[in-house]
Amino acid sequence: MTNDNIRLRFAPSPTGFLHIGSLRAALFGYLLAKSWGGKFILRVEDTDQKREVEGATEKLIEVLKKVGISFDEGPHIGGTYGPYIQTERQETYDKYAAELLKKDAAYRCFCTEERLTEMRTAQEAAKQPPRYDRCCRSLSTQESEERAQKGEKFVIRQKMPLDGEVVVHDEIRGDIKFSIADLDDQVLIKSNKIPTYQFANVIDDHLMEISHVTRGDEWLASYPKNILLYQAFGWTPPKFIHMPLILNKEGGGKLSKRKGDVFVEDFLNKGYLPEALINFCVLLGWHPKDDQEIFSLTELEKEFSLDGMGASPAVFDTEKLDYLNGYYIRQKSDSKLAALCLPILEAAGFGPDDRLEKFVALGKDRMKKLADAPEFLGFFFQLPKYDKQALCWKEMTLETAQNNLRAIMNLLEKVPETDWEKEKLETLTLNWIKEQGAKNGDYLWPLRYALSGQKNSPGPLEIAWALGKEKTLARIQQAL
Ligand code: GLU
Repeated sequence: MTNDNIRLRFAPSPTGFLHIGSLRAALFGYLLAKSWGGKFILRVEDTDQKREVEGATEKLIEVLKKVGISFDEGPHIGGTYGPYIQTERQETYDKYAAELLKKDAAYRCFCTEERLTEMRTAQEAAKQPPRYDRCCRSLSTQESEERAQKGEKFVIRQKMPLDGEVVVHDEIRGDIKFSIADLDDQVLIKSNKIPTYQFANVIDDHLMEISHVTRGDEWLASYPKNILLYQAFGWTPPKFIHMPLILNKEGGGKLSKRKGDVFVEDFLNKGYLPEALINFCVLLGWHPKDDQEIFSLTELEKEFSLDGMGASPAVFDTEKLDYLNGYYIRQKSDSKLAALCLPILEAAGFGPDDRLEKFVALGKDRMKKLADAPEFLGFFFQLPKYDKQALCWKEMTLETAQNNLRAIMNLLEKVPETDWEKEKLETLTLNWIKEQGAKNGDYLWPLRYALSGQKNSPGPLEIAWALGKEKTLARIQQAL
């Protein structure tokens, strides 16, 4: 069922790579929009041009697309509420700033940088919170107009109420009270005429008819200022959902680059699957019913709800991500997984090989990420250099190992190509070993080592099946 009143947005600043925290903001917004039958909008908040990185918006759209998040409106697809890039909306911000000035809900501040710095230094020395001293708040309209006309530089500040309380409502936390006296007369328009994030964000959420805002709880502190701005215009604010902080598992601090990867691109490059990243991210702050752990994006588009969201910090647990990734790797068909592993294997100097699907079928249980492919599949392409002593099982002598390998080779040589199948090879060999009155290890250990050169690997007859008859016999020959 569609609901035209439901509109959520992802409002990133194009300052570089996509942080895991931003992916979560996008995902929660997307999922709420989907589960309520609403629209999901991309708005690019690029007013801080100093921090802007070229091409960041395009990359961001591409990465989101890779993990399955798409938009109904945005700079790349258009829509009736555009433009969707803030630097293309300057006229709108000018108009609304003028409206606030006219309403006496904002004022021009002509204070110079030097004066503001002096003021801050004095406040710091007196251990007072840094705050504008409202020097220009009492300028007459006439003086303000005249100085502006003469070309004097100014910023536009919001005329905050001087005392009382503002109560803001968060959909997860409920009502939160803030004392107005603690709030600064925030800058709305900078001296270069560009709006601040706080101003442009409110104007756009209102004009784009955003119904719910999902954002990180680092924005809670400025939430009362946003609400006072909505009040100054006489607008009804959207509903706000502040998502909990994401903490590092070790040390507990805020998730940061110093402690490891935080960008979605890094994870994708390492071979984490989009399905796993989405499943992992959705659990950062959402607690599904019945502790279900595995969710596909399609399932989430229906099941996700505000109910399961909590305010306590989420922990970024890489082991959990590995576990989920391993799960999704095992879910892939051998042919899909082979296609995903191929470029990684090739980059490591392995392949291509028309038996790759078989190698993958045997290796997928051990892989936590695609980048593990060379480690777990490499030996299928190239036998590593190994120590011949390792061909001996337990106390076995090299001579026995050699004899046993030769016997196994004779046995396998007789198997026709058409019978070169996992189960057939296993039944044949195990029965034969039994007939010899020997232990499995007497034959299977040397065989496994001869075929893999690895202390840990899939079973020898599975490897033989995957390698094919010719390569299997060649590897035994080499060991001999
Ligand atoms: N542009 C802000 C950011 O980069 C958006 C915050 C919000 O969603 O309101 O995080």
